[in-house]
Amino acid sequence: MRPVTIIGAGLAGYSVAREFRRLDKSAPLTIITADDGGFYSKPMLSNAFAQNKAAAQLVTQTAEQMAVQLNARIMIGTRVDGIDSANKAIDSSAGKFEYDKLVIAVGAQPIRLTIDGDAADQVLSVNHVTDYAQFRSRISSSARVAILGAGLIGCEFADDLAGAGHAVTLIDPNPLPLAALAAPALSRGLQQALEARGINLRLGTTAARIDHAAEKLRITLADGKTIEADIVLSAVGLRPELGLAKSAQLATGRGILVNAFGQASAPDIYALGDCAEYSTASGSTQILPYIAPMMAAARAIARTLTGQPTPIEFKPAPVIVKTPCYPLALVPPPLHAIGTGCWHAETENHRTICRFYDAQGVMTGFGVAPQEAAVRQLLLAGLGMARPEKLLDTLN
Ligand code: FAD
Repeated sequence: MRPVTIIGAGLAGYSVAREFRRLDKSAPLTIITADDGGFYSKPMLSNAFAQNKAAAQLVTQTAEQMAVQLNARIMIGTRVDGIDSANKAIDSSAGKFEYDKLVIAVGAQPIRLTIDGDAADQVLSVNHVTDYAQFRSRISSSARVAILGAGLIGCEFADDLAGAGHAVTLIDPNPLPLAALAAPALSRGLQQALEARGINLRLGTTAARIDHAAEKLRITLADGKTIEADIVLSAVGLRPELGLAKSAQLATGRGILVNAFGQASAPDIYALGDCAEYSTASGSTQILPYIAPMMAAARAIARTLTGQPTPIEFKPAPVIVKTPCYPLALVPPPLHAIGTGCWHAETENHRTICRFYDAQGVMTGFGVAPQEAAVRQLLLAGLGMARPEKLLDTLN
């Protein structure tokens, strides 16, 4: 019965705590978090506006309720400043503590673009329920919103804010929205749907400067054109939080490097969620900032913590893009395959299905819109299978 300490009370920290408690009802469990420890589902942040949800409505359980449910000690408002992995100790705003087994689940931080202009510091990001509360407090019902980044989160916010009646401009350097994740045919479909929703897409350009202009903000694009907005939201991506890992001299890449068991490079330290960089079956490492891989990691790490070493089993799970104007589901192909493989698109009965085949002709990703469970299942079953022509080649 070795005590477990978890740093971070996001979905990753709470998921590993919950899975651990399923297996071990009594080992001492401590969760240390810089925030107030309220439990909320982060994916809700980008589809709560159209439902007119206040931040407080998104928090379903307080830290006190979570502490009872998990039979855990939860230290809220406590920032961990460093980890001494040699002496198994952590340094925090509430003092120094020793740990036995440690799980790092500190998430990621929004990337801040370097933008010129006297209002560049007005740009907001929403990566926590407190950011959502701040965003809501700053936005009036008639506010015009400019969103930087037309990736997954930017497109979801654009659709949601347009649904709430805001005039939205979506700016991205790529020629299409969702360019990094979706097949071009689906990105084009999404572009048309967002435009039909009234969203102004400014693609192939970036925000070069943001200045105050009377009561408004003026965004000057790299192509020289300008846009007026009342509020600017950045959704250009997240960077895993590595400060604590570096203080512990853990191996890091883009994230905290963990092995097949979720174990970092020092004994008795594990990491998962947005801060981790996982080992995948193909031997490469990957940041997987989604709920499904985080849950798989939580289940395996919890077992390993109870003394049953369990490798993380990543199963392909579609990412559901929360854009009601164009319901889309994706299993993005592995990053290493993108340069050498290709997309095949087909449209039937108003549904577009795109399959990604790697250089060996094996299906390793897909996207579908409009998506529904039965089609997702069918496509999931096709993953890992050879392209029909390839099958024929093999048979001959
Ligand atoms: P976080 O939620 O960032 O939690 C980190 C925790 O660590 C916080 O409690 C923080 O206070 C604490 N912490 C950080 N540093 C310290 C420190 N030094 N000391 C103490 N505590 C610290 N994924 C999907 O699969 N589907 C979706 O539809 C989807 N939608 C999304 C929509 C939005 C708007 C966003 C932002 C993400 C979305 N995601 C989605 C991604 C998914 O929500 C995240 O991958 C997941 O919530 C990350 O959880 P986490 O616990 O790793 O990080």
